[in-house]
Amino acid sequence: MSQPPAFTTFQTRTGKRVHRLPVEAFPNMWANAYLVETGDWLVLIDTGSGRDKSNEDLEAGLSRAGYRSTDLTHILLTHGHIDHFGGLPYLRQQTQAPLGLHELDLQTVSRHEERLALMTRRLQDFLSQAGVAGERRGELIQMYRFTKALYHSVPVDFTYEASDMQVGPFEMIHLPGHCPGHVAIKLEDVIFTGDLVLERIVPHQSPEELTPYMGLRHYLESLTALKHWSEGASLVLNGHDDPIPDLPGRVEAIRRHVSGRIRQTLEALSEPRTIDEVTQQVYGPMGGYNALLVLEKIGAYVENLYQRGLLEITNLDELDNGQPAAVEYRRLRDVNDSEILPKEKSYVFV
Ligand SMILES: [Zn+2]
Ligand SMILES: [Zn+2]
Repeated sequence: MSQPPAFTTFQTRTGKRVHRLPVEAFPNMWANAYLVETGDWLVLIDTGSGRDKSNEDLEAGLSRAGYRSTDLTHILLTHGHIDHFGGLPYLRQQTQAPLGLHELDLQTVSRHEERLALMTRRLQDFLSQAGVAGERRGELIQMYRFTKALYHSVPVDFTYEASDMQVGPFEMIHLPGHCPGHVAIKLEDVIFTGDLVLERIVPHQSPEELTPYMGLRHYLESLTALKHWSEGASLVLNGHDDPIPDLPGRVEAIRRHVSGRIRQTLEALSEPRTIDEVTQQVYGPMGGYNALLVLEKIGAYVENLYQRGLLEITNLDELDNGQPAAVEYRRLRDVNDSEILPKEKSYVFV
């Protein structure tokens, strides 16, 4: 997105002030942190990426709201993606305000170097199986590590499940799928959705084989849960763009978009193809970090179609050899429109 979102002040039902602090997390990529005045507390929700520009934007936003980072009493994270927690090393120099997040993102933030080493190995495996060959694979891995290398681990003070998903006046719900420990946060009639639902962007997905609690099924179930949990909310704020005026409508639009991509994935799989080949077919040539993101997306779709028995693997002989080989999938049969996505649950699991 090229247009930066603007600093904006909102109010909850009882008049608590919520400020949106847009930061340039990466060049031309904007993220929202939020500053909430509860009366007793001054809470920062998410922190930007930690790049110099992001930290400067964060301080500028705090100052427009009449504060500095040294005034914060709490820091809460919606999820463990670098554009949301990367500002922590900087903030820790300014304030010892207690930091909270969901258990499943704990190690990403507090033992980052270990997680990065493990994730790099898993990504290597995923990319080889996806059919991404030597040099290109190396480039993608390097890019993956580069965006995260600036960060160093920060200790976490408390976790949400241990706090019964309630921190002072804030209520949390665990919504995995975009990130393992993703939560939405509720304060009175205001919902912070993090990146689970965005107004103008379809949130990223990646396969569960890369990270537990990811994958299409978790993501779609979380969309349904968020929709029900947010009934009656009058303001829905997200991690990257503008407030979402119609959450159920936006959820439906995201489901439609994903369903269209899965339809294209199934079309590409009328003959045996690797995840890399399907990705080329569906998205065409992609450069930079986006090349990795679309491989992970198609990886999530293929994983889900295979789990649901709609695909077969066509090169079992090669895989059985024990040789490192790309996996080739093929569609088993024609798939109805009603089968493209896993069924939306009719019950609520909140
Ligand atoms: Zn995210
Ligand atoms: Zn984000």
